[in-house]
Amino acid sequence: MNEIITEDYYEGAGCTCYASSANECGCEGADWTPKEVYDLRGEVMALKALAESTANLAKSLKAERDEARDAIVGWENKWKCAIDMAARAELEREDAKDLAQQMSESNQVLQAEVRDYRKKERATS
Ligand SMILES: [Zn+2]
Repeated sequence: MNEIITEDYYEGAGCTCYASSANECGCEGADWTPKEVYDLRGEVMALKALAESTANLAKSLKAERDEARDAIVGWENKWKCAIDMAARAELEREDAKDLAQQMSESNQVLQAEVRDYRKKERATS
């Protein structure tokens, strides 16, 4: 039924009695199927194959779209994370600056105390 016939098919293929139609023919195995029937069957098969490949394409495009959507969500999360990290780093930098300022101040106090101590030591010796 689904056999693909060749271009040289003709109605009455296999007939050896020179009949002009199936009604007149008595040949065993002669094929009087109209050529259009085979052509249309071929077109149906081609269209089915096209429909199937279109469905497959749609399926793979859908999968790609889902993948891309997941990737975008991932990038958005990474971006948010990066912004959080940058904000935290900024705060830590401010803290470090404050700490450095405090250390510098206490260092000056210590230096002054050392100076005073040496002055007193020199005065007593
Ligand atoms: Zn015949």
